[in-house]
Amino acid sequence: MLLEVHDLHVEFRTRDGVAHAVNGVGFGVDAGRTLAVLGESGSGKSVTAQAVMGILDSPPARITGGRILFQGRDLLRLKEEERRRIRGARMAMVFQDALSALNPVLTVGDQLGEMFVVHRGMSKKDARARAVELMDRVRIPGAAQRVRDHPHQFSGGMRQRIMIAMALALEPALVIADEPTTALDVTVQAQVMDLLAELRREYRMGLVLITHDLGVVADVADRIAVMYAGRIVESAPVHDLYRAPAHPYTKGLLESIPRLDRKGRELHAIKGLPPSLTDIPAGCAFHPRCPLARDVCRTGTPPLYEVDEDRSSACHFWRECLDG
Ligand code: SF4
Repeated sequence: MLLEVHDLHVEFRTRDGVAHAVNGVGFGVDAGRTLAVLGESGSGKSVTAQAVMGILDSPPARITGGRILFQGRDLLRLKEEERRRIRGARMAMVFQDALSALNPVLTVGDQLGEMFVVHRGMSKKDARARAVELMDRVRIPGAAQRVRDHPHQFSGGMRQRIMIAMALALEPALVIADEPTTALDVTVQAQVMDLLAELRREYRMGLVLITHDLGVVADVADRIAVMYAGRIVESAPVHDLYRAPAHPYTKGLLESIPRLDRKGRELHAIKGLPPSLTDIPAGCAFHPRCPLARDVCRTGTPPLYEVDEDRSSACHFWRECLDG
C-alpha cells in the first residue's frame, strides 16, 4: 500500500487546555486510488493531512502516537531534511486557498519552472517550456502567454488549476488535496474535481481528498473515511456508504445534501454543533447529537466495528442504522 496511517494521535496545547485533534486515526491509500476524508470543520481531517505531509506547526501541535508509512517507510522516524525531500518530490499538497499558497510577486511560469530548476536541474528555458506544458495539461487557455502572468491575474478556478499543476510537476506518488474546491462556485468545483480525477488516473497517483462536502466526492472517491471529533467513525467504499450508511453521523450528513433522486423530500440538518476538542464528550462523542443514542453511548466509547470485510463503523448500533 502507498500510504498507511496507523493509530495517529495529534494534540494541541491551547489556552483552554489540550485539544485532542486526532485520536487514533487509521487508513490506507493505494496507488491510483482516491480516499476522501470527510468531516465538519474541527473534525481533525486537515490536521491529519498536515501530519501526513509533515507541515504541522509544532509547537503547538504534537504528534503523540502512531505511524505514518509512506512507500513502506515510517515518516515519523525520518529526519526533517529527508521529509522535506519526500515532500514536493514524492508527495504534494493542493491547498484550499491558492491565492495565499502561491507567491504573489512571481509569475506562475517562474513558480512552476522553479520546481524543475531546483529538483530536476533543468535550465531556465527548459523549465519554462515544462511549465507551459503543465499549464496546458491542466487546461489553462493560452498557456504560452499566460505563463508570464501573476497569480492575481487568474480567476479562482484557474488559480486552483495552477496549484494542481504545481503539485503534479514532479509526478508525486501521493497528492493530498485539502478542500481544493471550497472557494469555487459549483460549476467550477465540478470541473476541478473532474480534472483531479483524470490526472489521478493518468499519473496513477494516490489521492487523499479532504472535504466537508459529501456532495463533491461521489464521482471522484473510491472510499470515504468519515471523521468526527478526531476519530474515523465510518470507513467504506463510496457506493456502499451512499447506499446505506452504517453510522448515524454519516446518515445525517447524507440527509443534509440535496439529491436529485430524493426530489421533494425534506432536507435534514444534524442538530447541535461538533464538540470542542478540549472537551470531547465521554462515550461516543456524537451522542449529544445522535437520534439513536442510548445510555450505553454516554459511557462506552464504540470501537470500530467490522460491518463487512471492506467497511467499518464506530457505532454500537450500526446494524440498526444500516437497516433504517
Ligand atoms: Fe449514536 Fe450511540 Fe451510535 Fe454513537 S454509538 S452514533 S450515540 S447510536
